[in-house]
Amino acid sequence: MKTHRPILYVLLFAIAGVTLFIWSSWRDNKRFKETQGWINHTNHVIRQLDYVRALITAEESGIRGYTLTNNPSFLWDLPEANKNVIATVDNLNELVSNNPKQKVRAQELKKHILRKTDFHRKLIELDKKSSDSSVILISSLTGKKIMDQINSVISEMRSVESSLLQERIRHNEMVTRESFNTTLILALGVTLFVAIVLIRLNRDISLRQKAESDLQKSEARYRQFVENAGVVTFMTDQSGKFTFISNQVEGLTGFSPEELLGKHFTCLITADYVQVVQQHYYNQFFNRTRQTSLVFSINHKDTSIRWVEQDAVLLTKEGKVRGFQCVVKDVTEKTLTQFRLKEAEEKAREYQNLVQSILNNTPLIIYIKDLQGRYILINKQFKETFNVTESQIIGKTVQELKDGNTSTAEKYVIADQQVIDTLSPVELEDVLHTQRGDRHLLTIKFPIYDHNGDLFGVSGVMTDITEMVANRQELIEARQLAEAAELLQEQFLANMSHEIRTPMNGIIGMANLLMDMPLEKLQKEYVQIIRQSSNNLMVLINDILDLSKIKAGKISLEKIPFDIDSIIQPMIATFELKAAEKNVGFSVSLYPDVPRYLNGDPYRLTQVLNNLLSNAFKFTEKGFVTLEISLDKLQGQQAFVRIKVSDSGIGIKHEQLNYIFESFAQAAADTTRRFGGTGLGLAITKRLIEMQQGTINVVSELNSGTTFTVIIPYVISSEKDVQKTEIPLSDYSRNEEQFRGKHVLIVEDNEVNQKVIQYNLERYKIRVSIASDGSEAVEWLRSNPKVDMILMDLHMPVMDGIQATTCIRKELGLQVPIVILTAAALKNEKQKCLDMGANDYITKPLAQDELERCLLRYLLQRGHVQQAGRQEKNGTHKDFDLTDLLQLQDPESIRIVYDMFEATLPPGLQELKERAINKDWNAVYEQAHKLKGSLGIIQVKELLGNMATIESHAKQKTNLGEILPMIEESISTFHEVLPQIRVAIEEETA
Ligand code: ADP
Repeated sequence: MKTHRPILYVLLFAIAGVTLFIWSSWRDNKRFKETQGWINHTNHVIRQLDYVRALITAEESGIRGYTLTNNPSFLWDLPEANKNVIATVDNLNELVSNNPKQKVRAQELKKHILRKTDFHRKLIELDKKSSDSSVILISSLTGKKIMDQINSVISEMRSVESSLLQERIRHNEMVTRESFNTTLILALGVTLFVAIVLIRLNRDISLRQKAESDLQKSEARYRQFVENAGVVTFMTDQSGKFTFISNQVEGLTGFSPEELLGKHFTCLITADYVQVVQQHYYNQFFNRTRQTSLVFSINHKDTSIRWVEQDAVLLTKEGKVRGFQCVVKDVTEKTLTQFRLKEAEEKAREYQNLVQSILNNTPLIIYIKDLQGRYILINKQFKETFNVTESQIIGKTVQELKDGNTSTAEKYVIADQQVIDTLSPVELEDVLHTQRGDRHLLTIKFPIYDHNGDLFGVSGVMTDITEMVANRQELIEARQLAEAAELLQEQFLANMSHEIRTPMNGIIGMANLLMDMPLEKLQKEYVQIIRQSSNNLMVLINDILDLSKIKAGKISLEKIPFDIDSIIQPMIATFELKAAEKNVGFSVSLYPDVPRYLNGDPYRLTQVLNNLLSNAFKFTEKGFVTLEISLDKLQGQQAFVRIKVSDSGIGIKHEQLNYIFESFAQAAADTTRRFGGTGLGLAITKRLIEMQQGTINVVSELNSGTTFTVIIPYVISSEKDVQKTEIPLSDYSRNEEQFRGKHVLIVEDNEVNQKVIQYNLERYKIRVSIASDGSEAVEWLRSNPKVDMILMDLHMPVMDGIQATTCIRKELGLQVPIVILTAAALKNEKQKCLDMGANDYITKPLAQDELERCLLRYLLQRGHVQQAGRQEKNGTHKDFDLTDLLQLQDPESIRIVYDMFEATLPPGLQELKERAINKDWNAVYEQAHKLKGSLGIIQVKELLGNMATIESHAKQKTNLGEILPMIEESISTFHEVLPQIRVAIEEETA
């Protein structure tokens, strides 16, 4: 109906148009005819009027002719003419009967005409009687007067008719114009309408054509589909046996129709479906269901399985079921796809459940946001922690949720953006308000991608680290407390050692001097005991101090060339005595592959050997003690020296083996009582070895012996270098005379110490002067600037050693060697003295060998005169400064340090760069700090500045963007400057 309505409208419109057109034409035509009729009518009236005038005028002329001539021929048709004119006037009357005014005039005209004709008749009669009177009559004005009246009426009527004619012609023209306009408008309307109809028609045609072609295409597709679908049709009788099968069956089942005809349809159905299918068609049969559809599987001839969809229609004839007509479609692909889909869906669901249960059972708070920052997933923990429901969170951004705490929200938004920008995880620590109060939460945000690998959102995993943070804080505080306590302890020990060693120095020094004097036997014995006891006490004090220094990291290791023989030989001498005393065998093997000249700390080596050998002898009553020194391995410039001390002593219980290296640890409770000792020796030994990157191990069997194995790496040195430093003990012990005449100033406030030092020096025939404090010394030096050496105590009243040294160097400008005497073993204090211009230091109580070493060095300039006047080598260059390095003085050491610098700095910078790329700012901070340390020794100025800046930026997490460019710049600067440094080092060490 709908589609026909427009047509109906068009039809109605067309009929209306045509009707209007006809009506308008008819109307115009009618009006035209009417007007034309009126024009004709008026014309007719005018013509009649003219005719009347002509007739009456002619009559008058005839009358006039007759009266003048009396010729009757003028009158031959007068009656006829009269009749004529009257008839015309009557006609005229008739014509103007519809115009009242003209009608009056016409009647008037008729009256005048009648009078005129009457007048003429009278005239003729008169003429017949007397021609003169008639002439008079004629000449009278009566005839003319009537004639004038006739003329006047005719003219008036004519003029009225003329103007009527005029008007009617105009009217006629108007009618014609109107008709033309109407026709034009109608014509235009119709044209427009036709045009619209044509356009519509055209469009409809093209639409129809398209529809037709679509139909054709879809028909073609359908046909193709049907053809490709390979639909199989077959029929069975009511028992289910095939009665007809289409050829396509071969494609579907592999069997030809002939193979199947007569067989029961179940022969093709797979075992698991036979019953179902049979039941289905049985039901259809009994319920008389006209049509059913069923999907099941069948066996192909090649034993594969196919899935089919079967439409079955009951075949009936005369109300009885005759069989089935079936259409079978191969739906294997579809069915298998559906199975796969279902399987995949099940798997996905399973997976989803798995993920969901992980998400919900983890103690972590987990969420996912889309790229616009809207939450799209939150886990149970999230909801519980922040006491929210899913509907409150999902779809919202942090800004929309945070009411008030905008700075926190902003932090998280910035972190999200950072993840999106860098595509790498970002960590964030913050205190957030949760269900359980304010909690410290660590958030790790990371990007997540969809299956196409496109960035999809940001996921966050939050861990509650409140307890951890609290623990951390406690630990920090505890460590600070411990450090403070340790510092105090160290300070205390340093002070105590000063206080104890000073009197000990006196006791030992005096006892030694006393022993050199002629004494009675008993006196000698007593002195011997005093000496022994003091020595024991000193060992204990030294041990405690050593250990505390090691623990506080205040011990400094030497790095000097030495001859390992010169260490071993005195050791053999000492312990051979011990072996003889205890009647224990003692053998020493120094393997020839051990490099003789090494660089390292010979004093610590002596200490280690002493400790191990002392223990070996202490715990061995019979049998042997052996010392074996061999080469463990060579690695570049390094020789790993193995020291093995074995004994056949009491041994150590297996469970005590690890314990013995701890402070105050002894394997047996009665050790001190039975063997003496403090339990500190091995603790110190182990630490000293480890400080030198070495190792110590022990193997022991109770009651059969113990073996300690130590391995220490030493840089291989040369004989030349060693000779520069080493003064063999043997050299000076026998040359006491060589110092005769030398003059030494002792600056010391303690009188006992003054004496000890004085006597010691006087043994070498050295002239001694004494000052009790720094200012006295300075005063004395003003008048005795030629003194050969100064031994200066550090802690003194009035002016201490540091001030005095400064004064001597700066104020007096003296270069005399100054050797500091110090009990306080504080590393920085000694360093301070050296910085102030002192040349060397000796620890108190005075060790003979140290004193002699200094005497040789500074009085005889023997050996390597360390820091002569401390005139520093000028190591400054434009881009770098080697001053600190050159203070090592020893070319070998300088070279080693430089080699290390050259080998470690480039990888160090590279590492720094990698850390910066990974934005691991803590690691950047650590690495920059480390590099800064290396660069402090060989100062590459720009790099040092850069490292300090990077260190501070990374620590405070500010200006992070500047770090990477700064590293790049540092790397290129380093490679520019390195060759110059190498040249400078070569010059210095040549
Ligand atoms: P001590 O001053 O007691 O010798 P050490 O630290 O040197 O302290 O040794 C710790 C403990 O290790 C000793 O008390 C001893 O029990 C055990 N010990 C060390 N060396 C040996 C050894 N050669 N034979 C047996 N026991 C040893």
